[in-house]
Amino acid sequence: PRKLPKDPVTGPGVRQVLAAWSAVAPEPVSAPRVIAVSDDMLSVLGLPTVIAQSQRFADVFSGNALLPRMQPHATNYGGHQFGHWAGQLGDGRAITLGEVVAADGAHWELQLKGAGRTPYSRHADGRAVLRSSVREFLCSEAMYHLGVPTTRALSLMSTGDPVLRDMFYDGRPREEPGAIVCRVSPSFLRFGHFQLPASRGDQALLQSLVDFCITRDFPQLGQPDPDAYAEWFKAVCVRTATMIAEWMRVGFVHGVMNTDNMSVLGLTIDYGPYGFLDAFDPDFTPNTTDAQGRRYRYGWQPRIAYWNLQQLASAIAPLFDDVAPLQAGLEAYAAEFDARTRENTARKLGLSGCTEEDLRLMADLQVWMHVAEVDMTLFFNALGSADAGALNTAHFDEAHYDLSKRAAHMGDFENWLSRYKARVQADGWDPEQRMAVMRQANPAFILRNWMTQRAIERAEAGDEQVILDLLEVIRRPYEPHAGFTGVAGKRPDWARNAPGCSMLSCSS
Ligand code: AMP
Ligand code: MG
Ligand code: MG
Repeated sequence: PRKLPKDPVTGPGVRQVLAAWSAVAPEPVSAPRVIAVSDDMLSVLGLPTVIAQSQRFADVFSGNALLPRMQPHATNYGGHQFGHWAGQLGDGRAITLGEVVAADGAHWELQLKGAGRTPYSRHADGRAVLRSSVREFLCSEAMYHLGVPTTRALSLMSTGDPVLRDMFYDGRPREEPGAIVCRVSPSFLRFGHFQLPASRGDQALLQSLVDFCITRDFPQLGQPDPDAYAEWFKAVCVRTATMIAEWMRVGFVHGVMNTDNMSVLGLTIDYGPYGFLDAFDPDFTPNTTDAQGRRYRYGWQPRIAYWNLQQLASAIAPLFDDVAPLQAGLEAYAAEFDARTRENTARKLGLSGCTEEDLRLMADLQVWMHVAEVDMTLFFNALGSADAGALNTAHFDEAHYDLSKRAAHMGDFENWLSRYKARVQADGWDPEQRMAVMRQANPAFILRNWMTQRAIERAEAGDEQVILDLLEVIRRPYEPHAGFTGVAGKRPDWARNAPGCSMLSCSS
């Protein structure tokens, strides 16, 4: 903590705070109640599952009680939003309770999202609605089980207090049920944490933040010094590349890749108006705020991540004598993304390696999936469901959304399929090996927006069972879910353009 100068106010109701963090206790709620808990996360923390049944658990993870030695605090960050520097903007509603050191020595920060106001809340209420909390809780755990680097979630609490939100932009706020997610991560440091002191010319704070991050989160880099700074930035770049390649593999669209939503640990963070692709579409963004520019569309994520890393590089540039190490980090991003993309291309197609021609094979497939309106997940499941030689176009019927588009582009697909069969045959892997690799790379289950939306609507009506059902399904995304067709299938027609399904607002 640093001594605060007199509150400089830079805009109506916008309080600028010159600190990296502030001690702040959660604000109590009326009726804390557990909706759902991740047993997997409990066990990572070394806690028995029965603990979640106690009222004490509900009290602590909704901010009504603190355990001994918890040191609740909020941190301060800024960020570029939709390509523009937005100054100080967070964290107005996330309060870290403290850090757990698990038996294996791993550090886990426990953070409540929606536990009330902080010195960084500006004009807002510090709360979160059930809708967005269900989405964050389920998707954090879904991404973890998909093998995508992500922050985790421990618990989803109902607060018993209504929250006012103007979700539909009709000027009339409506009351929604309040909720709190306890999210868990080794660190919640974002690009924006470093950008904020840099933007204020506070090099001392910038440097101590980098030193802190290296010491706590990147101990393998040794003492924080100029060499370690270079390696640190490179590590951030490489981890970000891995994360983005994994998003692309499973068809995840983050939706709000502002620099305040980018983790320096390369973890997916801040689940807002995200979505998984149903029909393959490189231009898809679920975020209605981004509908015009589509800055955060699926196909642009790799270049936006690079742009975000460039902003981080500019922020930390004062710590370097020359820009060569920063340039090297950015080049490492490109190289890592390229390597991961090739690896994922090979795995998704069931090939032993990935040549230039294989990249073209994948690109041509994507063009066809886009114009013919083909479900990405169902397509790759079908592709890996049989010996390549035995595949025919009927295997892919379920993956189509539009029969006339299917017919119109069938010739292209037949050509593609014969190219693919020839490639698989030349590759020489035995069919079992090929299918096993494909099963690991192509999830059978992704958390489609319509499923979460249905769980939210049921929960708002008093039935929380669908949330628990989904929590169970997301634990085994690479196994076919014969028993879960009701919650795990292809996007139904009603969800095609429904709010909460293909279109989501940032209101949360
Ligand atoms: P987002 O666009 O959801 O990433 O939000 C940007 C920042 O706005 C977050 O880091 C929060 O600090 C802040 N924020 C969003 N909603 C609220 C809220 N209801 N109360 C206080 N701060 C909020
Ligand atoms: Mg955010
Ligand atoms: Mg399109």
